Parts: sequence; structure tokens; C-alpha cells
Amino acid sequence: SKIKEGLRKTKESMISGMQRVVNSFTKIDEDLFEQLEETMIMSDMGVETSVEICEKLRKRVKERGVTDPGKIMELIQEIISEMMGEDVALDLSTTPSIILVIGVNGAGKTTTIGKLCHQYKQQGKKVLVAAADTFRAAAIDQLEVWTQRAGVDLVKHAEGSDPAAVVFDAVTAAKARKTDVLICDTAGRLHNKKNLMEELRKINRIISQQAEGCAVETLLVLDATTGQNAVNQARLFNEVADITGIVLTKLDGTAKGGIVISIKNELGIPVKLIGVGEQIDDLQPFDSRSFVTALFE
Ligand code: GDP
Repeated sequence: SKIKEGLRKTKESMISGMQRVVNSFTKIDEDLFEQLEETMIMSDMGVETSVEICEKLRKRVKERGVTDPGKIMELIQEIISEMMGEDVALDLSTTPSIILVIGVNGAGKTTTIGKLCHQYKQQGKKVLVAAADTFRAAAIDQLEVWTQRAGVDLVKHAEGSDPAAVVFDAVTAAKARKTDVLICDTAGRLHNKKNLMEELRKINRIISQQAEGCAVETLLVLDATTGQNAVNQARLFNEVADITGIVLTKLDGTAKGGIVISIKNELGIPVKLIGVGEQIDDLQPFDSRSFVTALFE
């Protein structure tokens, strides 16, 4: 499957790395735990999460009286599965439902919106997109290419106009046209946190006034290839927005898939969608069971 294929490099670096450590021991001792912890940190699982996994591992080994290093990988799989918790799907329960897409340029926002448009359209849903990243004309043009390809409508204003005004028009249109899903692009200027926060606050105010009671998802798009930087980005965005889920893009071909575990464990934000390629159908709901299985089995 695509997730299995996409996680091949992560499996090679992370899982095979741990397996090599385990194989080099004939009995379980503190040195084994320390080497495992180091391997986990090196494979982008984050210091905090790696330390926590090893803590749990020590405890479980003791509690169950495990002496065979050959049993260690099974225990790690069990601990990671527990950490991943239950999957959370997007809430699209109202008409319209609104999806706000945030993230820095280059993370894959436009591509993700294009893929979502295509999928919802295929499911027979009525989709509308708001080009509320008015900061760059190129962003609006790019979005238009994707929406045209998917055959969905786009609400846009001129470059430099007020993003909240775009959202206002889009919500009004979505209600009038009985749109199922309204997807709003936003400018991801993280370097100007105050402006970004103000902009998102204004957009959210418009949504809560104009679309009262509608399901709203705020999805943060992160580039998996940036590893722990993506986790730090998520921390910063989490300070300015109420993120309801993460879209992790470019999971295909990166060895840094371990960040899924640290995002979930350290930020408590569920990964809801994963990007596994550049094609229009390369976006999948995140399924932690397949994720763990793809890595360990
Ligand atoms: P934006 O600036 O955040 O809107 O980013 P774009 O959507 O323009 O994406 C930036 C680049 O990442 C483009 O070349 C996309 O084709 C690529 N990209 C986006 N998502 C994925 C993915 O899941 N896998 C791969 N391999 N490339 C992706």
C-alpha cells in the first residue's frame, strides 16, 4: 500500500536501527535502553518522546520479567501503539463545514487543498474554496490552477486585500449555494506571529458570526521532511491558533516519519491526514494502526 511504500525509508532508519541495537545484545541491560533511546532521538522521534518510550520500556521489562532482547521490539511496538491513541476523523457534520488551512509556504498547503477538493468532489460533495492567502498573488494563482483542475469554485479578491473579507464573502456564498465543504487557504507568515494571530482571530470571528454552529476544522500543514523543525513549527502555530488536526505532507520518501509519534505525544494534536505523493489522490486519512503496522511488520 501507499503508506507502507511511503514509510519504507522511515522503517529502514528508525526500526532497522533499533533492531540492530537489539540484535547486538545478548541480555537486557541499561546500556541497551540507552542505545535505543539514542537511536530513537536520531530518527526524529523527539527527545521527550524517546525518553518516555524508553522509560515505559524499562518498566514493562521489569514488570513482566522479560529477559530476552528478542522481545524488545514487540514491547516498543506496543508502547508506540498506545501512544498513538485513537484516530480522529475530520468533522464535516454540518452544511457547510469549514476547513481552515494554515502552515508556512512550501509545506504543501495548496496541494493539500487541491487534493481535498478533488476527493470531496468525487464523493459528490459541493465544495468551495476561499483564497484568503491574499499576501502573495502567486498563492491565489496556484490555488486557482488546483480548483480549476478539481472543478470547484473559488472566491478570490485582489492581492493585498483583507483575508477576513474574502472569508466573509466565501461563507456568504457557501450558505447561499448550499455548499457542503468550504476550504479556506490562509497566509502562513509565522515570522510575524502577532499579525498572523490577529489575522486568524479576525477570520475566526467572521466564521463564528456568519457560520454560527458550523463544524470548523483548523488544519496545520507540516512538511514531514523537515523532521523536528516541523514539530517546533507546530508548537508555534499552536500558540496562535486552535489547531484541530495536522496534515503531514511529503511522508513519501522521507526517513523522518517518526515525527508522527512525537507530534501526537508531545502536542496532543491528532494527525488527521497524510500526504504520500504529489498526485491528486495522494492524500489519505491517517490511520495509526496502519502506520504502526507499516513500520513494525
Ligand atoms: P504551499 O506553499 O504550502 O502551498 O505548498 P505547495 O502545495 O505549493 O507544495 C510545495 C511542494 O511540495 C510542491 O512541489 C508539491 O508538489 C510538493 N508536495 C506537497 N505535498 C506533497 C506530498 O505529500 N508528497 C510529495 N512528494 N510532495 C508534496
